Amino acid sequence: MSNLSLWERESFYATQDIIIIGGGFMGLWTALSLKQKNNSLRITILEKSITPLGASTRNAGFSCFGSPTEIISDIETLGEEETLEIVRMRFEGIEKIKNTFSAAKIDLDNCGGYELINKDYKYYDQLDEKINWLNSLLKNITEKDKTFVRKDELISEKGLIGFDAMIENTLESGIHSGKLVSALIQKVQASGVSILNGIEVKNWERNLDGIQVYTHQQIRFTANQIMLCTNAFGNTIAPELKITPARGQVIVTSEIPTLKLKGTFHFDEGFYYFRNLDGKILIGGARNEDFEGERTTDITGSDLIKNKLIEFLQKHVDPSYQFTIENHWSGIMGFTENKKPLLTKLDDNVYAVVACNGMGVALTPIMGSKAADMLLLYF
Ligand SMILES: Cc1cc2nc3c(=O)[nH]c(=O)nc-3n(C[C@H](O)[C@H](O)[C@H](O)COP(=O)(O)OP(=O)(O)OC[C@H]3O[C@@H](n4cnc5c(N)ncnc54)[C@H](O)[C@@H]3O)c2cc1C
Repeated sequence: MSNLSLWERESFYATQDIIIIGGGFMGLWTALSLKQKNNSLRITILEKSITPLGASTRNAGFSCFGSPTEIISDIETLGEEETLEIVRMRFEGIEKIKNTFSAAKIDLDNCGGYELINKDYKYYDQLDEKINWLNSLLKNITEKDKTFVRKDELISEKGLIGFDAMIENTLESGIHSGKLVSALIQKVQASGVSILNGIEVKNWERNLDGIQVYTHQQIRFTANQIMLCTNAFGNTIAPELKITPARGQVIVTSEIPTLKLKGTFHFDEGFYYFRNLDGKILIGGARNEDFEGERTTDITGSDLIKNKLIEFLQKHVDPSYQFTIENHWSGIMGFTENKKPLLTKLDDNVYAVVACNGMGVALTPIMGSKAADMLLLYF
């Protein structure tokens, strides 16, 4: 836009120390960390949607650091050391959320988490040994002798059927993701960061004045450094990131007056997850039923997955429950090949921190801090 007023040019569109592209959890935590480390920085977040639109306001509101079968599976692919490093970051990320916001502000419910397991699980016969082994590995992180405790007797008490074993993790909780994003936005803005919505970044180039950031709105921004926090959408402006998009779908039932379910629940290595939400059931996942179809940034849901989630409920909750489906939405996660979040340099003064592999509620507070350190290192 060439006819900017002098006032606009010297305020909203003035040259920034750092421009963050993407205003989801990652962009917001990165901005907050930067301000906490150097309050004098001039920072603007450019967000393409009216409110952040990717994964942060569209997940299931679980603050979990990993269910037992998921951690076992990760150890088999990533190895013990790398898996525990990610689990530690997730654990510390959740602690950071709790230390930053009051429980009331983000509807944090310390309801405890549960993993449900069936006899066809490959380690079912060694489940107790596996739990003991995981507990010894996690002790250094959670400071608890028994992070996971077998509680099969609670399955029917929670109104669930068709499962053979259940493992409890009292450290897990539920949150309200919309309230968390909103609280973060308020905190980031109060720290002096400017957030501009409805601005979609197209590309950038370096010149003597700094990095020129071009947008679809024909407004050009200038910064000394930029950080892409664009998650699954990053490939559009930086194809070298090679992030695999993964759509996650969620449905919410009508209120069920006799609902006994309490807690956050996981099944099938985290492919299904559900919880009680104000007397309703929120359930998400089933991506493994159509991996190919769900490898998309299209935010529109699909009937195939919606029906799989309904089928799951019909099979696994008390048959006396009567409900209809009141909500159906989807969010887009970003995955890397090695399941590790990506913090990388793309060019001089251009960086990206993306792809929390479906674990970003817990990981972004820590990855945002690491991203801030990287920016400050080269500042
Ligand atoms: C159904 C579901 C369940 C999940 N369950 C869990 C869970 O149990 N535990 C957990 O820890 N995590 C979970 N997650 C993952 C978590 O929500 C994400 O990892 C996290 O929100 C990622 O945050 P982000 O800021 O990196 O990405 P996003 O929230 O996607 O934010 C990226 C932002 O960048 C913006 N953007 C993109 N391109 C541009 C551009 N060119 N210009 C300007 N802006 C742009 C987008 O509009 C978007 O707002 C789940 C996600 C989903 C969808």
